[in-house]
Amino acid sequence: MKKPTIVVLGAGYGGLMTVTRLQKALGQNEAEIVLVNKNDYHYETTWLHEASAGTLHHDRVRYPIKSVINSKVKFIQDSVLEVKTENKKVILENGEISYDYLVIGLGPESETFGIQGLKEYAFSISNVNTARKIRDHIQLQFATYSTEVEKNEDRLTIVVGGAGFTGIEFLGELANRVPELCKEYDIDFQKVRMYCVEAAPAVLPGFDPELVDYAVSYLEKKGVEFKIGTPIKGATPEGIIVAKGEDEVEEIKAGTVVWAAGVRGNSVIEASGFEAMRGRIKVDLDMRAPGHDDIFIVGDCALIINEEINRPYPPTAQIAMQQGEVIAKNLTKLVRNESDLETFTFENKGTVCSLGEDNAIGVVFGKKVTGKTASFMKKMVDNRALLMIGGASLVAKKGKFNVL
Ligand code: FAD
Ligand code: NAD
Repeated sequence: MKKPTIVVLGAGYGGLMTVTRLQKALGQNEAEIVLVNKNDYHYETTWLHEASAGTLHHDRVRYPIKSVINSKVKFIQDSVLEVKTENKKVILENGEISYDYLVIGLGPESETFGIQGLKEYAFSISNVNTARKIRDHIQLQFATYSTEVEKNEDRLTIVVGGAGFTGIEFLGELANRVPELCKEYDIDFQKVRMYCVEAAPAVLPGFDPELVDYAVSYLEKKGVEFKIGTPIKGATPEGIIVAKGEDEVEEIKAGTVVWAAGVRGNSVIEASGFEAMRGRIKVDLDMRAPGHDDIFIVGDCALIINEEINRPYPPTAQIAMQQGEVIAKNLTKLVRNESDLETFTFENKGTVCSLGEDNAIGVVFGKKVTGKTASFMKKMVDNRALLMIGGASLVAKKGKFNVL
């Protein structure tokens, strides 16, 4: 009998976790495993705020996919355009492939909620290319300011839209990077403005208020100005437009606008006709797409409700990797004609939010942590992701050991 083909789309946390577990569980003759990804490298999405600020080189946040897969996996570097579920095919930019089982792990995209000008004039922290672009753009603003005769101080204003975890982690890095840029280009730090603009009435809405106060006062001391309860209404070549009260709007001029105010699932989900909410498929308990016994969804493209609060679990690398493990087990069972598939239960190990290189806040196994302890834990979390996917040798190559 022909061995089944398992196709995994996306080599992010979810996709790679699935593939590396599958290559261990299945024998060479049991299934053909195919992994498709846009690039020949995996990037640590959870480190992209560092590459975007320029506090960590982009090569530190990525590694070759071939370094973590073995000869049981066929790797195809290509972009996925659409899944044709009716004839079990994936349409790629440069061809197509057939599957018996499919795993969709194409990750998130920036959600702009239809706000005018954001797609054209704001940056988003989405991948290695956008991270490099943000880093280079900010540096160019400083370099241009230092050479222009008529100084345009708005160049030195950086607006971060959204005070969620991405916005706060990026500001933590920026607050360390900006003094370095000032020194490099002989610019008075007092001339630089770093704004965090948040629509909700609080920073990190829903997170522990004591930890939020710690983060806000730390970032304020480093020069970040918070504008909370201030929804961004638009972006222009000169900056952003924000709501001021009920009917009025205000313009904040800025040389750099980084939109970190939300994510959605990959647009391939909707292009393929799946029923989805903002590109995320509400999966069955065993991680399959409803009505599709042969398709699993992993990571930011999957939506699971936290029954305790009747709201979706936030999309994180932590949940993506746990899902990948369950999906690999379930695929192994299907290949072996076993029907007792596992159901997915999220085991929340906590959340740590970095505030630059040597500070952080977090709740780990129910305990609050701040400062160097929290920062150490964050680096251990980062190293753990490497360990889970590529083992000790990957940690040795790419791990964070600069603990203080
Ligand atoms: P990803 O890891 O993003 O991978 C998706 C993969 O699919 C990528 O390799 C991409 O190149 C590929 N791809 C996309 N489209 C296509 C296509 N059309 N064709 C082919 N390939 C494609 N979560 C945490 O748990 N802890 C944290 O500390 C944390 N920090 C974060 C910091 C930042 C700055 C950001 C932006 C997010 C952070 N998150 C964190 C969230 C976490 O990164 C995501 O939830 C996680 O990356 C989702 O994993 P995934 O496998 O779904 O997608
Ligand atoms: P998010 O959705 O968590 O936060 C977006 C923020 O933007 C919210 O506070 C929201 O109120 C605000 N916002 C929305 N519209 C706005 C507008 N028009 N104007 C101003 N503000 C607006 O998005 P995120 O921070 O990118 O996080 C995405 C996912 O990644 C989340 O699940 C998060 O938990 C995860 N993440 C985790 C970590 C970590 O664990 N350290 C770090 C980064 C991201």
